[in-house]
Amino acid sequence: MSLTRPDLDALPSYVPGRTVPGAVKLASNEVPYGPLPGVVEAITEAAAGCHRYPDMGVVALREKLAARCGVDPQRVATGCGSVALAEHLVRASTLGPQDEVLYSWRSFEAYPIIAAAAGATSVRVPNRPDHGHDLAAMAAALTPRTRLVFVCNPNNPTGTAARRAELDAFLDAVPQTTLVVLDEAYREFITDPDVPDGLVTYGDEPNVVVLRTLSKAWGLAGLRIGYAIAAPAVADAVRKVVTPFSASGVAQAAALAALDQEVEMRRRAELVVTERERVQAALQKVLPEVPDTQANFVWLPLREHSVEFAAVCERHGVIVRPFPEGVRVTIGTPEENDRFLAAAEVALSSP
Ligand code: PMP
Repeated sequence: MSLTRPDLDALPSYVPGRTVPGAVKLASNEVPYGPLPGVVEAITEAAAGCHRYPDMGVVALREKLAARCGVDPQRVATGCGSVALAEHLVRASTLGPQDEVLYSWRSFEAYPIIAAAAGATSVRVPNRPDHGHDLAAMAAALTPRTRLVFVCNPNNPTGTAARRAELDAFLDAVPQTTLVVLDEAYREFITDPDVPDGLVTYGDEPNVVVLRTLSKAWGLAGLRIGYAIAAPAVADAVRKVVTPFSASGVAQAAALAALDQEVEMRRRAELVVTERERVQAALQKVLPEVPDTQANFVWLPLREHSVEFAAVCERHGVIVRPFPEGVRVTIGTPEENDRFLAAAEVALSSP
């Protein structure tokens, strides 16, 4: 007899971007410019208190995030990365056996794992041929059993972003009893004015939760702080199911220091965006199917050629992320991107 759930055997494992010594890592959507100024100092100072438990309520950080977002701190929940918050939201939702979690596919690989771990049924709506969410088909896929929907905007791994009109129509179609998690992990890289800021546009909808992270543009992937802005009752429920003390004191201090550096964060995000436009244009010349991206990565829909493309890149010292449908490549420094483009040229020209 098994001591653990047999259905977990069939569950795919989360695959992290690989780190290979000497190679450029463009596989985890990190920003390449190091920690923001003041962050390492804040960590060092906080480390002196590491024999004590951290503030379990994450009060100072939640207050700071709330002030930035213009909401009451009661509406903010933090988690060990936004991926943990996605998990907590599923756990705090009204999902019961046989209930459904709806999302576009391919999207963030944690969604199916989180849904399956909670015993939910995943309903996956294929991306449109242009690689974006098919929100009309997602609306049509809603059933009375849909308890939670993930909308990943921009979408990981395709970089595509849903625009205002289609999001409005989708949210109108979702019943108030279904939680919509707008995952905006890459919000800071969006430049298209038609892509709404979820918090500004939908933040006051009682069933909408906006998920953000300090891992990407804010440069804190290694310290694991994400946050959710939700209706007070939803945020309260999430805070109840969070693993106690999962935001370490060092992480809280680093996040507070990083948030003081908004100007520098924006400058770095702009560097990434400039490079993104360059890399995207270069790729679209040889592979017109590459979709426009609003994130800090690009998507090459290479389907069955994806693994081979990634292998050629690796031989040229660049680690990218292959999926069955395509390859995701994070935007790095200009030199790293040049190295990738040189490798891509070889990979795309080989028969
Ligand atoms: N959402 C999306 C769409 C992501 O791509 C990621 C990171 N890959 C996350 C959430 C989780 O990021 P973190 O847990 O580091 O906040």
